[in-house]
Amino acid sequence: MTTKLEIQKGKLFLLKSGTSIARALFSFFIPGGLILLVAFLLTRGQIVEAVPGLARVYPWIILITGILLGWRFNRSQLIFVVIVMAVADRALLHFYLTEAGSEGVAQAVYNAISFLLPLNLAVFSLMKERGIVSLDGLMRLSLIPMQVFGVALISHYPSLGFAVYFKHSFFNWPWLSKIPMAQPALIAFVFVAFLLVIRYLQNREAIDCGFFWVLVASFFALILGEIGPVSTIFLSTAGLVLIIAVIETSFGRAYRDELTGLPARRALNEMLYKLGSRFTAAMVDIDHFKKFNDRYGHYVGDQVLRMIASKLENATGGGRAFRYGGEEFVIVFPGKEMEDAYSHLEKLRKDVAESGFFLRGGDRRIKELKGKKTGKGSRGKTKVTISIGVAERNEQNSSPHQVVKAADKALYRAKKKGRNRVCR
Ligand code: GH3
Ligand code: MG
Ligand code: MG
Repeated sequence: MTTKLEIQKGKLFLLKSGTSIARALFSFFIPGGLILLVAFLLTRGQIVEAVPGLARVYPWIILITGILLGWRFNRSQLIFVVIVMAVADRALLHFYLTEAGSEGVAQAVYNAISFLLPLNLAVFSLMKERGIVSLDGLMRLSLIPMQVFGVALISHYPSLGFAVYFKHSFFNWPWLSKIPMAQPALIAFVFVAFLLVIRYLQNREAIDCGFFWVLVASFFALILGEIGPVSTIFLSTAGLVLIIAVIETSFGRAYRDELTGLPARRALNEMLYKLGSRFTAAMVDIDHFKKFNDRYGHYVGDQVLRMIASKLENATGGGRAFRYGGEEFVIVFPGKEMEDAYSHLEKLRKDVAESGFFLRGGDRRIKELKGKKTGKGSRGKTKVTISIGVAERNEQNSSPHQVVKAADKALYRAKKKGRNRVCR
């Protein structure tokens, strides 16, 4: 079985199988990449006559929708992005399509904007939500007019000489000159693209992936042809991508457990009814967890929950883990009989039982120890075990909820028999 590294919440986990890579790529590309592809075809294909008309209304629709949605969903990031895109669009059109300045001035404005856009996106993607009608929010918002002021200075007073910084050449590679963007801006785009991909790998949320596609959309706006309707369409599409990402993120959060990152009970309930006639469900419960909490505190308890969740998430045999509630989890094996699922559950139980958690005294931080390293005398070392009840769909338990109930009963037997075991 192939494995891949996944960075999650600052930790590295080994994830199984190629299918999860395909799934990860799919959720990275859809919908942001797809929307961009449509925009790309729209500006190339036969529908090209519709572009100027669309470019007149589209930016306004996106600006208004983005601001309204950002306000209602408390997402100031979205408000900032749609405003920045609209301002960049208007500024570019102003200098390119009117008599506002010479060609040199338009080029200087283009260089400055193409440098500032990715940096703005980096800041917006990293910032913590502080609302917009707050001191923090207003201070952040004021960065936008400050940049407008800066760009206006560059265009009005070319003699100040700022423009040269935005078109400085660092590398002498011939292929670079084919891209109509100055090198500082290109470097900014590449740097921010890396940053956004890393952020996506860490958080795995639609909003992070959305930011990446917003960056790509702004890049297209700046390099695909002339400044005009086409650049307007791409800058507006950047806003559209983020609007959809914000909706998706809010939707996703309703289905995901915040502490462990596992799908939550709501997701389980929906999944149970999509299963075929054969499946196995397991109920997992941490042993003596109340005592553990009492002894080490709720914070350490939470960290242990996350560690166990990450182990369950990597269940073999196609098992999919959900946080059922509290310190209880459910693992569903679609298409598997109990006999087949059993060994995978036994493996999980053993894996948890053999891992030790190292508690550092003062700050009560916690670190996982691999089974072999937990030699005698490790100070502060502690162990946690889980009990598992397993049941399959059959004539007796024909509805998914009956199967889960039967697994719960089996769990009760596992507890009674002394815990740290799998019972059917
Ligand atoms: P048993 O072996 O019989 O399962 O014993 P137990 O102590 O694990 O069972 P019980 O159901 O009495 O206690 C569950 C405890 O789990 C209670 C609560 O303190 C703890 N718990 C539930 N949810 C969380 C959580 O999100 N974080 C932390 N830190 N503890 C939790
Ligand atoms: Mg319990
Ligand atoms: Mg318990």
